[in-house]
Amino acid sequence: MKLELENSELAAILNAEILQIRKGYIINSVICDTRAIINPLNLAFFALVTDSDDGHNYVKEAYALGVRTFIISTPVNLPEDTSLFLVKDCLVALQNLAFFHRSKFSLPVIAITGSYGKTIAKEWLYFLLKDEFKIVRSPKSYNSQLGVALSLLEINESHTLGIFEVGISKPNEMDILERIVDPTLGFFTGLGKAHSTNFSNEKQHLSEKIKLFKHSNFVFTNDKFRSVFRRTKLNGVFVSKQSKELAKKANTPFLETLSTCIETAFFFGLEPNFIEAKLEYLPFISSRLEVIAGSNNTVLLNDTYSLDESSLRMALTFLVQQKEKEKKYVVLDDTELSEAQKEGFLTVIDEYEIDEVFFVTKDTYKVLHALENASILFKGNYNSALREIVNQLAEKKHQTWLEVNQTKITENLNILKSKLNRSTKILVMLKASSYGSGDVKMAHFLEQRNVDYFGVAYADEGVALRESEIETPILVMNAEKDALQDIITFNLEPAIYSFNQLETFINVLIRAGKKNFPIHLKVETGMNRLGFLREDLEELMAKLATQPEVYVKSIFSHLATANSDEVFVAKQTKVFNEIANDLLNGLDEKPWLHILNSEGVLRYPRYQMDMVRIGIAMYGIGSDNNLKGALSWFTRISQVKKIKSGDSVGYGRTFVATKKMHIAIIPVGYSDGYRRILGNGVGSVFINNHKCSIIGSICMDMCMIDVSDVVCSEGDVVELLGPNITIEDLAIQMQTIPYEVMTGISKRVPRVYIEET
Ligand SMILES: *Cc1c(COP(=O)(O)O)cnc(C)c1O
Repeated sequence: MKLELENSELAAILNAEILQIRKGYIINSVICDTRAIINPLNLAFFALVTDSDDGHNYVKEAYALGVRTFIISTPVNLPEDTSLFLVKDCLVALQNLAFFHRSKFSLPVIAITGSYGKTIAKEWLYFLLKDEFKIVRSPKSYNSQLGVALSLLEINESHTLGIFEVGISKPNEMDILERIVDPTLGFFTGLGKAHSTNFSNEKQHLSEKIKLFKHSNFVFTNDKFRSVFRRTKLNGVFVSKQSKELAKKANTPFLETLSTCIETAFFFGLEPNFIEAKLEYLPFISSRLEVIAGSNNTVLLNDTYSLDESSLRMALTFLVQQKEKEKKYVVLDDTELSEAQKEGFLTVIDEYEIDEVFFVTKDTYKVLHALENASILFKGNYNSALREIVNQLAEKKHQTWLEVNQTKITENLNILKSKLNRSTKILVMLKASSYGSGDVKMAHFLEQRNVDYFGVAYADEGVALRESEIETPILVMNAEKDALQDIITFNLEPAIYSFNQLETFINVLIRAGKKNFPIHLKVETGMNRLGFLREDLEELMAKLATQPEVYVKSIFSHLATANSDEVFVAKQTKVFNEIANDLLNGLDEKPWLHILNSEGVLRYPRYQMDMVRIGIAMYGIGSDNNLKGALSWFTRISQVKKIKSGDSVGYGRTFVATKKMHIAIIPVGYSDGYRRILGNGVGSVFINNHKCSIIGSICMDMCMIDVSDVVCSEGDVVELLGPNITIEDLAIQMQTIPYEVMTGISKRVPRVYIEET
């Protein structure tokens, strides 16, 4: 907001009695809630009186925070350095100010009303039209007498289109809102029975609503309102067949609203092709129906805001589309319904395939808590007790989490498989908690995908897999001396890379009375890490020939340059083949041979031999463009605040604002693996697909981002890694490789596994 009104000008606009005044003080913006005060300079505080609270109780607090201009309806005592403007009603005064402000601009304004779908309509219109216009729109669902006024105050010279939501709950409210919004265009979503208790009948409700459009040039709406519009002489633009057909291409149950938005976009000259292309990215707006993960593998659809037939139908349509869960239940709050109303709703529910309907009793929570693997729709009025029950049933939300997309992992695995012969075995590396994705869960998931072997770095990782009942063979890369007994007990298979280690293991096997225990020989071909050397071979064969305790299941080596130096790859494989041949000649058994890792499979499938060992490509990293990123890292905004020019951010004041800015604080820092090197503009995150850069230094548990160009608030989801920021991007910014990024995400970040349906 930038009102630029001198105090006496403001008093005049508000038609206020001046009790005291500080002349020359400029008001740029208004506030009604002291909790929202960030910068008190140039603020006017409106002491609103509502049924539940009285703003006059907070004027002292506002003063203490630095506010110096007050609009009040009861005299208060404040020091002389303040301005006190007395009005009859602070809300009306604020609306007058909004009216004054709105009148200064001649931009087209679309006003949206109806008893449902207003926020969705507003957001979708914004989405469709934002490339053509600089749009000012209501923040969130600001559609009340107060919300509309605050929304209008956001208009400035740069805007070329306004889109505002308008809601009413009592007769005669619309006249006031119509006057202050002064819409040039209208958008009518339709009429349900929500909020209708204050109206004597539906007709009154409808005629009150459409008063909003009495001066509008055109009103966009569904064609079922044709006759009403004709009667009331409104200039309706009704949804065409073309808009309806286009809307069907989007994946949404709210077709009526979407087709009206498309019709509006046509009106503004957008081409069908352009709209169709955009529909693919149509934002999902949870509006009132919230989708929440519940305990016991349930999905909770919370629609406890209004109870009427049309919103019930919309919610039921959405429920039956939830294919992921086996059962579908509806919980209906019938406590305030008449028998006839209840009958009516049940008849509607009957039309959909629902497994069971529950009503509210004192045992509701207990009954619902016992449900499993189900999608549950909660339907009730805005004061319904169900809302609390939904809260209790909701799985506790993580602030920060790493999402592992198992569908994408399967797809990536299939890409790798497509490069290999059917008979080639696949070993999946699960070391370092499956590259940071979380070990045991991944192993269970992969066991279902017919992986032949698992590989781990240390024995205890293998033990954890066995304890969770993984049966696939497990190769342990670093079989340490102390862990050799565990290897036997838990049926793990060690990589053997030195005489010392081999002898120790044989001794352990002898003590345990074991024979023919599978081992995997690791040989040195150019990496110069662990492994037998060429000159060890003779002695090694002699040793193995006399020890029946072990049997060589495979021989392997590891590429040093799978993603860079082809010549060296050829050299290593040549050396490997020579060594392997010597060993094969000297051994009774016929061990498998393997040398390729993920990138090796992608580039050199000709060296696949008997088995390949894959890791990182499953998560979408590698030279094949079809691989898809399977990890996403998210957090939620802890706080949003305004700073002004000259303010600094964070430790060491490494960032100093040169203009007014909005910043957000997010609860992720270097101890989560979000490294300090990403600070001061190096890294960035995404909010609503909008890039926001990191400002200041990264702290241990949090960091700050610039959100000046994006509408966001506390609790909004922030992408640190995912569709917009690949692991490779992050690796470049961190000056490292994807492996280190992935395994560096701290254990305290919970891993959440998802499957696309
Ligand atoms: C980690 C590892 C792999 C897998 O490497 P990616 O590049 O992730 O496919 C293969 N073999 C050995 C010995 C490893 O340590």
